[in-house]
Amino acid sequence: MLVSSLTPKNISERVMKMKRDIWEAEHLCQNDNCKMGKAKVVVEGMSVRAWKCPKCNETVLHPEDAQKMLVFNKLRHGIPVKVGKLGEALMVRIPKEFAQFYSIEKGGGLILKGEDESRFEVKVA
Ligand SMILES: [Zn+2]
Repeated sequence: MLVSSLTPKNISERVMKMKRDIWEAEHLCQNDNCKMGKAKVVVEGMSVRAWKCPKCNETVLHPEDAQKMLVFNKLRHGIPVKVGKLGEALMVRIPKEFAQFYSIEKGGGLILKGEDESRFEVKVA
């Protein structure tokens, strides 16, 4: 394909294809050259895609999911926000990192649920 024929749309399609391909591709273990199988592993409470060697149990995390874990690690430590006021209601801005990670969009629903006197849960509806 000529570079001049690349448009943002077909670049995006190619990136999506590459992302599918890396998951579908055959991966060999660096220790013993054995074909690694797809696996789901739970790391710090989060389910991530990985490839696992049936012979030596070497596990390699999917790079996309590993990146997602790094973001989640930042979120679990908390990001301070200020309370604002809009009419009679109080409002809190949701930081971009949270909105992206939890797929929260304008107009989307959230459920607030009390935990104890100083904590409450915000659940994506
Ligand atoms: Zn191995």
